[in-house]
Amino acid sequence: MNNSISRRGFIRVLGLATASLVFPVKTLAVSKAKVVVVGGGFAGATCAKYLKMWGGNDVEVTLIDKNSSYYSPILSNLILNGQKSLSELMFSYNDLETKYGISFVNKEVSSINSDTKVISFSDTTSLSYDKVVVATGIDFIQSNAYDFEKVPHAWMGGAQVALLKEKLDLIPNNGTFIMSIPKAPYRCPPGPYERACVVADLLSSKNINVTVLDENADIIVEKDTFSTKFNEYGITYISNAKVTNVDDTNNQVTYNSSETLSADLLNIIPNQKASSLVFDMGLDDDKFAPVNFLSYESKLKNDVYVIGDAHKSSMPKAGHIANSEAKICADAILRDLKNELPYQTPVTNSACYSPVSRTEASWLTALYKYDSATQNMIPADSRYPVAGNPSTSNYNEMFNWTGNLFSDTFS
Ligand SMILES: Cc1cc2nc3c(=O)[nH]c(=O)nc-3n(C[C@H](O)[C@H](O)[C@H](O)COP(=O)(O)OP(=O)(O)OC[C@H]3O[C@@H](n4cnc5c(N)ncnc54)[C@H](O)[C@@H]3O)c2cc1C
Repeated sequence: MNNSISRRGFIRVLGLATASLVFPVKTLAVSKAKVVVVGGGFAGATCAKYLKMWGGNDVEVTLIDKNSSYYSPILSNLILNGQKSLSELMFSYNDLETKYGISFVNKEVSSINSDTKVISFSDTTSLSYDKVVVATGIDFIQSNAYDFEKVPHAWMGGAQVALLKEKLDLIPNNGTFIMSIPKAPYRCPPGPYERACVVADLLSSKNINVTVLDENADIIVEKDTFSTKFNEYGITYISNAKVTNVDDTNNQVTYNSSETLSADLLNIIPNQKASSLVFDMGLDDDKFAPVNFLSYESKLKNDVYVIGDAHKSSMPKAGHIANSEAKICADAILRDLKNELPYQTPVTNSACYSPVSRTEASWLTALYKYDSATQNMIPADSRYPVAGNPSTSNYNEMFNWTGNLFSDTFS
């Protein structure tokens, strides 16, 4: 945090050869440090792997997840149209345990006390740590209390996606499908637009009316691509449409408190915030956790790091960039354990491939660099490269990209 950085910065400026002559060396540097990563998604699994790969015997790494395996949200829209199965997007933590020597704990964390450095589980057991990485993703902000089993969001991998597929398969001919797009920032900026296209393509033979309610003022990414596809599919697109009520008994959605629409199937993707653990620990500022971008250490608590969708930044909430942030965080933790400063010019990279049919995809990528003046990550280039036109070759390349990302994260 700020104190230790300025202390080390001070040492550097003075050019003192041995910091320990002036300040006591941290005890963590001489004993095997216990680093615990909570959340085994793209952010947490990558961080655990690289902590152990780079830290070797100097560090004991534990990865905790409430689920015994992980279902990727990336590519999950392809489950809806039958191009992928749930099992193809499921990843176990076996490789991380056997190849890298990480301890995996399949438990739900109920709280973390950052003063005593103790993690408590819902089964009342506990675990202590020297440093903890919180990588627990997002939670939803619902317009009102309604049942996700009746109105699925399908914005986390696994069961919710399977449920939406089941309901899509049952939608009657000439029926209606209404989905909503949350206010940015939310997980995967192009994802909801991608979903509208995939669903419209899937349901085209049933003559289904697809309506998209977007809380944003306009399509927020790849506007040319998605507006062209929306026109092609005959999707009704309504911008500035904030979902204000969901009636899960009558399958009705109200937006802007005045307009109510009925559908055979509703797919409401609610607004988003960091997972509840971030709030319980007091790591939040507004909806997400502010961090120091040189290390991803919380700006509010010492020795607590927040990576992936749960942290607050202008970078997109996406799995590829979460993998990138995780490596910066792992490196910074290992340096800190040796009383070294974090790397001062980190760069992160984001990529999202969007299938828009059973054969075509577009993509979007961006590079971010650390700006020391604002202490923020800023775009390294003012242009965000995009595919332009969706194509079959993009669709095929998408699987090379995911293959690399999945294996860099989980194996
Ligand atoms: C349809 C769709 C398409 C997408 N496409 C792309 C794409 O093309 N490119 C891209 O980069 N990203 C894409 N994404 C976004 C990407 O999936 C997310 O940004 C990414 O999963 C975030 O990773 P994370 O590790 O922060 O969170 P998660 O993946 O949500 O992982 C969080 C983990 O924490 C665990 N957890 C939570 N709370 C606790 C607790 N209390 N105790 C123990 N464990 C806990 C959860 O079980 C989970 O495993 C897409 C998302 C969707 C929905």
